[in-house]
Amino acid sequence: MIRRRRYGTRRWPYGALLVAGLLVAACAPAPEGLEFPPSREDGGSDAPSAAVEECPAEAVPPAQDRPLISLQFSLAENLRIVTGTEQVRFTPDLPTDELVFRLIPNSPLSAPFGNLLTITDVSGEQVSDYGYESADAYPTTPGGLLVVELEDEVAAGDSVEVLLNFELELGDGTFDRFGTADGLSWWGSGYPLLSWEPGVGWSRDQLVTLSGETSTSQAADTTISVEAPEDLEVLMTGDQDRPEPAGDGRRIWTSTEAAARDVSVAAGQFDTADAAAGDTEITVGVLPDADADAAELAQDAASIIEEFEEFFGPFPYDTLSIPVLPDFGGGIEYPSSILLATSQRFILVHEIAHMWFYGMIGNSQFRDPWLDEAFASYAEVLVDASAPDSTDLRTPGDIGGSMADFPDTDEYFSVVYGKGRAALVTAREAAGPAAFDAGLRCYINSQAWQIAVPGDVAVAFADLPEALRILEEAGAFR
Ligand SMILES: [Zn+2]
Repeated sequence: MIRRRRYGTRRWPYGALLVAGLLVAACAPAPEGLEFPPSREDGGSDAPSAAVEECPAEAVPPAQDRPLISLQFSLAENLRIVTGTEQVRFTPDLPTDELVFRLIPNSPLSAPFGNLLTITDVSGEQVSDYGYESADAYPTTPGGLLVVELEDEVAAGDSVEVLLNFELELGDGTFDRFGTADGLSWWGSGYPLLSWEPGVGWSRDQLVTLSGETSTSQAADTTISVEAPEDLEVLMTGDQDRPEPAGDGRRIWTSTEAAARDVSVAAGQFDTADAAAGDTEITVGVLPDADADAAELAQDAASIIEEFEEFFGPFPYDTLSIPVLPDFGGGIEYPSSILLATSQRFILVHEIAHMWFYGMIGNSQFRDPWLDEAFASYAEVLVDASAPDSTDLRTPGDIGGSMADFPDTDEYFSVVYGKGRAALVTAREAAGPAAFDAGLRCYINSQAWQIAVPGDVAVAFADLPEALRILEEAGAFR
């Protein structure tokens, strides 16, 4: 069965969107002390100018009423404690009387190494209470979800604002999104991650022991500041400004990203080098004892971006920052940033592909991990022109399985990455590369900055029954 979805069911009707914007301005005064940067108050230049088409010629812009998030992190001198605040303005498309945030450092994958995220305060005019839910978090942590209860239900299209205070402890460095090493700290998803899926509601998926992402998060208009010891360079999600002195031997780094589902930060004694791919600025940072050459790596990333733009359209961000961590054997994608902990080129290729498949086209990484991982794995083949192992297609298991369907990381990787890549490559051969690439471009452009579901792939490939049959046989549409 292929579940087809009609376009427009989850989208904001654009007329209503303008009304909702006025309601936000009229009915939702900021709680005292909450001041957002003015990036969204400039008259809505990102408002779509035409009705949604099934296959728009360009990526549809981010929704105008997407979440507005302002993060402030302060890294202690010991490089192991980050104190933070998060200001959120959230406009649900369904009524709700709570806010749910995912606390990824408390997962059974991360917490055993000493990572921990605790909430120290929650405030806001509409807040009545807050607490934790387990969601299979590691037992020594307070929980995997923060649930903020509201005084009253917020109607669809109205907005709610909250201020969260938190503390993040960073553990020992491993292949993970949090960690420390000599003179180095990094944290991705190191704050309460707003977990709303438009048209569906709050995502409360459990945290898992598999090595992989399980989040569902909207692309948010995001500003970030990081205060850190002045001998460290900071590389993070977003277009970064020059650091400013903050006194006491510290500096403040700031960045903005117009549509970010999550945020990564790395602070270390990086030597940096830049390169450009069209309008995209790439910054690579390497540690003093690293084997990697920052300039070479930046240039290589630029060439990979240019290759992908031929297939997927313009790179989704103005910048890409790549802090190179010690070799823990992998890479982790974040919006406009990659935590790169390997010298293997195909991993850099894979993570850059995620800027489209995850960064721009979002998905439930718990329910539909193939929408980011199979497509990023498929993209590797486009750049290095290697033929995937065709026997991967015979691996038992559905590529469209959820994170709960795989008993361990090996099986998850072999099915979702390996078989998923083989299915997409085979589908492309069956449909013809030009027709397949056009169908994929249709999916990318129509689902940009949203949270896609497998049915959206089926809609985009509706005229390519050979391709759909291969994906269906591989278990993509369950
Ligand atoms: Zn991946």
